[in-house]
Amino acid sequence: MTSLRIGTRRLRAGKVLCVARNYAAHAKESGGDVPVEPVFFPPESSQVEEECELAVVLGKGGRDVPRNHAMDLVLGYAVFLDITARDLQARAKALGLPWTVAKGFDTFGPISAVTPARNVGDPHDLAIRLEVNGDPAQVGSTRDMVHRVPDLISAASRIMTLERGDILATGTPAGVREIRDGDVLVGTIERVGRVVARAARKV
Ligand code: MG
Repeated sequence: MTSLRIGTRRLRAGKVLCVARNYAAHAKESGGDVPVEPVFFPPESSQVEEECELAVVLGKGGRDVPRNHAMDLVLGYAVFLDITARDLQARAKALGLPWTVAKGFDTFGPISAVTPARNVGDPHDLAIRLEVNGDPAQVGSTRDMVHRVPDLISAASRIMTLERGDILATGTPAGVREIRDGDVLVGTIERVGRVVARAARKV
């Protein structure tokens, strides 16, 4: 991913921060507890899974951003499909290694165009849905996020300097499933947009 589309303009995409287990029902289906503090996967097989997520796109950067100023950094929102090679992730976890490899393949992380924040309003009350080949797989609402957008931005900015163009993927509701060659994924978030991706095994 090198650039994001916002209306007729383009914005250089920065780093991608993916939040782990930010919906209790997904934490449960993946066999874990909800972390007390937000946990981030580093950015950048044979068992590939999808996670449909609300992505927060930053228009401004910052470091150690207080929670009450965090929303000032938000340019807009997009629909993001966080794709994970779950087998590689499981192997890395078992060995105590970072999981970067599991989410770092070139084509992982398709994203929709960016909708300006003013057109979306409250990011914590949006219907979120992923269909695989027309069947509903994930049907949820961003109101079920455990750690909310200002907390996530503030927490991320205490780890690393945030920059314009950075993308914060806010975690996924329940219903994550394995995808297969040829599957068509359609992710939709109310007032934000839609992203369509086809799974294709690299040969
Ligand atoms: Mg995710």
